[in-house]
Amino acid sequence: MDTKTELLTRRLLMSETSEIVIIGAGIVGSSIAYHLTQAGFRDVLVLERETRLGLGSTGKSMGGVRAQFATDVNIQMSLYSIPLFAQFEEVIGSPSGYKPHGYLFVATNEIHKAYLGANYARQLELGLKSAELLSAEDVVRMVPQLRSDDIVGGSFCSTDGFVDPNSVMTGFIKKAQERGATLQRGVEVTGVISEHGRVAGVRTGRGEVSCRVVVNAAGPWAGLVAKSAGVDLPIYPLRRMLVPTEPFAGLPDPLPMVIDMSTGFHFRPEGRGLLMAWNDREEQPGFHTGFDPEFVEKILTHAVSRVPAFSELQVNPGRGWAGLYSMSPDHHAILGPAPELEGFYCANGFSGHGVMHSPATGRIVSDLILTGRSDLIDAQLLGIRRFSEGRMIHESALL
Ligand SMILES: Cc1cc2nc3c(=O)[nH]c(=O)nc-3n(C[C@H](O)[C@H](O)[C@H](O)COP(=O)(O)OP(=O)(O)OC[C@H]3O[C@@H](n4cnc5c(N)ncnc54)[C@H](O)[C@@H]3O)c2cc1C
Repeated sequence: MDTKTELLTRRLLMSETSEIVIIGAGIVGSSIAYHLTQAGFRDVLVLERETRLGLGSTGKSMGGVRAQFATDVNIQMSLYSIPLFAQFEEVIGSPSGYKPHGYLFVATNEIHKAYLGANYARQLELGLKSAELLSAEDVVRMVPQLRSDDIVGGSFCSTDGFVDPNSVMTGFIKKAQERGATLQRGVEVTGVISEHGRVAGVRTGRGEVSCRVVVNAAGPWAGLVAKSAGVDLPIYPLRRMLVPTEPFAGLPDPLPMVIDMSTGFHFRPEGRGLLMAWNDREEQPGFHTGFDPEFVEKILTHAVSRVPAFSELQVNPGRGWAGLYSMSPDHHAILGPAPELEGFYCANGFSGHGVMHSPATGRIVSDLILTGRSDLIDAQLLGIRRFSEGRMIHESALL
């Protein structure tokens, strides 16, 4: 930040009063700002500690979006979010990069198959029309390069696919700004100020801002923000690595996201090559985001095992990257008011689904702040109280 901008920011913040302060301008904070202004509420200040947007998890994401989940609440969040990605340009005025290539889940035993069948029934019941169950033959017809000796079936949803997370984030925040929200970059929130059990403002490196509502959208760092407000947010950061490949020809076009349920290995097209991911269960919680070159060998083992032609894949380990998942105890988002402090709202713990569920999150959190209820989901389900009240939700369709 140059000296002039810095002085302006300092002056602005020293005297700032806003009704709602959102901490963090990742895809989630940006969507909440957009949805608040969309509902006609303009007195919104978004504080981002970095001088550039997208340096948190959003800029590291694989950009996958899907409605093929096991739990009603995750399916419902996708049923709001994916149509918005599809119409993003018309509604928001900039592209989302939505590519409906589909997600192909590949089942290799009867337990997987029964699980996909049960999920499909829930998805259908909730109104998802583009999902289908597949036979082993259908799966192989879709991606003939798969090793098929153990494949017993699968599922596919044609409206699942990928988006460009940076483009979605920028679209949301720009539209929110056009409608009156303010974004301040290079401003770190260092504490939440409370009076008589309710939010009174935030402390930043550049002065204090008084406000009545604080939204914690600080991604993997949200636990630290919550702690400064005296709120116990049970999330933890977990490193996640992605491996892009050099160009690879011969796969079907369009190629879906392909998930090998036997190992969790999955891949999707990225440019003329692929982007590969795998959940390494040896990974330990922490804020470390260095890329481990040894991961390439591990992921390639799973890749070649499912697609023998991948023995020809070229990978430059220097192009791999890592970011942080923000994990909650039941792998579901934590949304809504914190019981410890009136006016403090959570939008955290997406457990790897924060990009795909950012539209629904914006809508739900905005509605909860402005009206105290959501018509999209039963918001009690995702409230933080579920942990103390023993109402955790189980989602096993975790990638
Ligand atoms: C490798 C990888 C692959 C992924 N793949 C997918 C996928 O395919 N599909 C999907 O849906 N999700 C995926 N995710 C998860 C997704 O990226 C996240 O859930 C999502 O980006 C969370 O957005 P966010 O806005 O909450 O957090 P972030 O993008 O991390 O934004 C939080 C912001 O808060 C700011 N901040 C933090 N503390 C403060 C403070 N004290 N004061 C001011 N600002 C602060 C940070 O600088 C940051 O900009 C993936 C994640 C990773 C790491």
